[in-house]
Amino acid sequence: MIRHILRLIVLVAGTVLATATLASPPAAAQAPAGGGSVAFTNARIIDGTGRAPIDRGTLVIANGRVAAVGPAASVMIPAGAQRIDAAGKTIVPGFINAHAHLNVSPNAPVPVREDLIRRLRMYANYGVTSTVSLGSTRADEAEGFKLMQEQDHPGLDRARLYTAGLNAVGKTPEEARASVDRLADLHAHLIKFHINGTPNDMNEATWSAIIDESHKKGLRVAVHIFYQKDAKAAIDHGVDIIAHGIRDEDVSPEVIAEMKRKNVGYIPTLTRDVAVYVYESTPDFLKDPFFQRGSSLYNEQVPMLTTPEWQDKVRKDATAQMTKKALVQGEKNLKTISDAGITIAMGTDSGVASNPGRWQGYFEQVELEMMNKTGMSAMKVIVAATGDGAKLAGLKQVGTLAPGNWADLVVLSANPLDNIRNTRMIESVWIGGAKQTNVTPVTQTR
Ligand SMILES: [Zn+2]
Repeated sequence: MIRHILRLIVLVAGTVLATATLASPPAAAQAPAGGGSVAFTNARIIDGTGRAPIDRGTLVIANGRVAAVGPAASVMIPAGAQRIDAAGKTIVPGFINAHAHLNVSPNAPVPVREDLIRRLRMYANYGVTSTVSLGSTRADEAEGFKLMQEQDHPGLDRARLYTAGLNAVGKTPEEARASVDRLADLHAHLIKFHINGTPNDMNEATWSAIIDESHKKGLRVAVHIFYQKDAKAAIDHGVDIIAHGIRDEDVSPEVIAEMKRKNVGYIPTLTRDVAVYVYESTPDFLKDPFFQRGSSLYNEQVPMLTTPEWQDKVRKDATAQMTKKALVQGEKNLKTISDAGITIAMGTDSGVASNPGRWQGYFEQVELEMMNKTGMSAMKVIVAATGDGAKLAGLKQVGTLAPGNWADLVVLSANPLDNIRNTRMIESVWIGGAKQTNVTPVTQTR
């Protein structure tokens, strides 16, 4: 009898769920059979905190969360759990892109919500399980907030979204505060504003009001900068996150000391700069099979970026050419800042609607490799893309494989500590304990 009632509840719940999701694309995740638990055994486990990996570890998922993790002898596998032998595999927390944009494409072939969901699924396809959108457009802000409210349950079938909504802005401090208040009312996860270093910038009294008002509302604040002087001014006024690298000069010991003292986080966004100049010719990576995993989305932009007209425009663009040098400076500063022990998060600026060629998914993987090439160890890069990314962006219950956190993880068929490019060797991606069903295993990288 009880069993019958339970079945009925499951059936009814299933119907409600099916009705509720009618407006969305078909599900792309598979929760464990019967809602039961899953146990990975014999896995190398990198937990995202920076601690040494567990070599033959067990990780148990129950109710969408990490239930237990540790050396085999210390973890009890619940009866009836689905066991997955992960010998030779490495489990890492799902990657966090702490500077993304989830913008609807101006010529999206599908409704806004569907367009945003297919983008979140593309992130997941590359192992990115959480994205922090530092700037919506008017066309997608409302849907972004909705999606953010709908992800707090087991069995998610897309990457998580934490959105800042539109950038905070104002002509006066009062307007700036009103702009923050509006975002706070919409439950923005954090606040973002710009100091571009141009005459159109808000004055200091106005942008500092954004920081002050955000803190009054309990929100962290990220600032877009290019110049060290602007980063320094924002740090002096209490900003929490420097959302791009400092790229005009060597980062100074004073700025580093202030970042440390005030616990300010740093997001280098190296691939953002690559995207500014690389389409002056046809980059090799467009032919990379790993890039082409994203072709269902990327092919909406590739033809335009490979026309002679586009490439000519980039070659003649002063900013694009200047950015080559800026990137070199940014890479140098990243190493200095990493050595100083500042909290660093991985971020790419991918997905911005107004700037094509910033590939959601692929560029996060390239970013990891570029960060490593500046001299950060593979472990440091992984921590930036997991535990520290969560810390910096104020994300709860993701980023590390600690009991109680969401089971957002990537199973890799090779060890990323041997070679950072092994983060591309994706065997499966799990979000809220559900295996993402449209992620095909990667068998080799170039
Ligand atoms: Zn951005």
